[in-house]
Amino acid sequence: MEIMAQIAPPVPPDEAERLADLEDLAILDTEPEKEFDRLVQLATTICQAPIGAITFIDSHRQWFKSRIGVEVAATPRDLAFCAYTIADSERLLEVQDAETDPRFVTNLFGPDFPPVRFYAGYPLQTREGSAVGTLSVMDVVPRALTATQREALAKLAHTVSTHLTMRRELRVATQSDRLTGLPNWFHFESQFDRCKASRSVLVLVRLKTVGQITSAHGFRSADAMIKQAAQRLRSCLKDDAFVGRIKRGLFVMYFPGLDPEDFRKTTAATLNATLCEPYNIEALTLVCPVHLGVAVHPDDGAKLDDLVTAADGALQVAIERDEPYVFFDKAVDNQLSRHYRLEPQLRRGLRQNEFVNYYQPKVDLATGAIVGVEALIRWIHPERGLVSPMEFVPALELTGLIAEAGGQVIQRAISDWWKWRAAGLDAPRIAVNVAAEQLRGNNFVSGLQSALAAVDGNPAALSIEVTESILITNMERAIEILSEVRSLGIPVAIDDFGTGYSSLAYLVTLPIDELKVDQAFIRKITTDPAYLGIVETCITLAHSLKLKVVAEGVETQEQARLLRELECDQAQGYLYSKPVPADELARMLPLLARPAVSAVPAAGLVLGPAATRPVKS
Ligand code: C2E
Ligand code: MG
Ligand code: MG
Repeated sequence: MEIMAQIAPPVPPDEAERLADLEDLAILDTEPEKEFDRLVQLATTICQAPIGAITFIDSHRQWFKSRIGVEVAATPRDLAFCAYTIADSERLLEVQDAETDPRFVTNLFGPDFPPVRFYAGYPLQTREGSAVGTLSVMDVVPRALTATQREALAKLAHTVSTHLTMRRELRVATQSDRLTGLPNWFHFESQFDRCKASRSVLVLVRLKTVGQITSAHGFRSADAMIKQAAQRLRSCLKDDAFVGRIKRGLFVMYFPGLDPEDFRKTTAATLNATLCEPYNIEALTLVCPVHLGVAVHPDDGAKLDDLVTAADGALQVAIERDEPYVFFDKAVDNQLSRHYRLEPQLRRGLRQNEFVNYYQPKVDLATGAIVGVEALIRWIHPERGLVSPMEFVPALELTGLIAEAGGQVIQRAISDWWKWRAAGLDAPRIAVNVAAEQLRGNNFVSGLQSALAAVDGNPAALSIEVTESILITNMERAIEILSEVRSLGIPVAIDDFGTGYSSLAYLVTLPIDELKVDQAFIRKITTDPAYLGIVETCITLAHSLKLKVVAEGVETQEQARLLRELECDQAQGYLYSKPVPADELARMLPLLARPAVSAVPAAGLVLGPAATRPVKS
């Protein structure tokens, strides 16, 4: 058989989209599948043809997904009948004798194959209307289809098209995240496997205030914001980089071939700047800063799981320190893992009441009288004995157990307060430390309300201390909560003042009653005039705002003397007393002028001879 002069097939007008749609089907070069084979079988039987196929027309080739009577897996596109069929995406192409048609070569399957004389093919259409391939039947003799056969072929082609659409939708549903359309974790994983580059950067991106935005404006607004954030992340991608969403406000990005230094110098800033722009969602303008945890391939992990674990460790540090981005650091990670490893022990401790309250007096600098105490948590570990809060409070915060632990501190404070009262003592106001997470919890204010009820509504029994870190994420919300606390009659103190933002300006706006100047400042007032000056400024400003000032960590008479000169109101420190258990504190408390409840000491409470004496000043 001679090769006839062949005219190149026409290129469909939507060729670029057609090829994109074809790629989107992810069907090229896949294994044969029974569903497709069965439909080809049916087509050849109905049309009484010895040859049949489902083919897809790629940029330069025709590829056979399913074939009967055909040896080859692909032919050049220019030789394919089907390349003509797809030029009209709606209609059947029937060539009754190819040998008389100059458009076709008939030995398209090779020299050993009998020439194809008859061809009938129907285009396979995607939902978007692109003709990506064909269902065809062929014969080695010239002939025609009957009307019934044509109709059947059209129906079968339609079935193949539907099958293709369903396959794609199933793939999209299983591979992408419905809200943002970004790849989900599983798809991200397979993308990573395909393009893992030698040196590259993986980043976890966490939107910081999704939780707050959800509670303040509802999940639809938060969803809309997450969607916009996803678009912004996409806009930051260059070259082969890609992004996926892991959960609500958490995304993962991979930058193949990116030098970590370039990430540090430019990409981090670009990501931050892009994501920190305000979001306009209906009538709202929302701001949602981000934290980034960065891991480097292969230094921090060769496999995706290890890289993500490293990036997550870095992210936790970024969140804790409130830094825009943090690179993974093994030393820091060890400390974090230690915190996480403590979790089961902490849970057990909370269940089995291994935590106790110690109390440290706050004294009036002018009179030396105890004007309050601070409750400080201690862990009586079954094997290790007394454990310092410095060691486990950060772990309680990290593992989300701080609210429960804090609730227990308040319960113990209430019960100790009653014991002191029952012993006829002038029970002082107990200040409890409140962690930022705890303050933001849903039940914080109602919990305090119940606590207040448990002390017969006596507002002189309790106060709270919060550190400046409460201001980090949402100052407005913090202000709201603190105002509610104060409206219950419970005073609020800012703890460790000077160590966080070191800004006096926000004191004006915060609803607080007391300022506790951090011990780092107090320690230096006797040796460094600059520190004396700072403390003096704090006291003056606080007084002008009608706040009480407490000096923390007062250890020497000299410090106490200077503080008295500066008219500091109260002091707390080893000079007066270390934190001690409840019954030991009882020995420092004066007796009530008129016993309010009962003069009988509570069980287990031993009153020493010093019960009426104020502590030394
Ligand atoms: P803080 O609230 O600033 O408590 C004061 C800390 O300074 C206490 O350490 C106390 O023992 C120590 N201190 C008091 N006077 C002196 C002194 O004269 N010199 C020196 N060097 N230190 C002094 P502690 O009890 O180890 O507590 C450490 C921190 O742990 C507390 O700092 C507080 O931030 C946290 N914490 C303690 N109990 C709780 C709690 O129940 N809940 C929460 N969320 N945090 C707590
Ligand atoms: Mg405190
Ligand atoms: Mg403090």
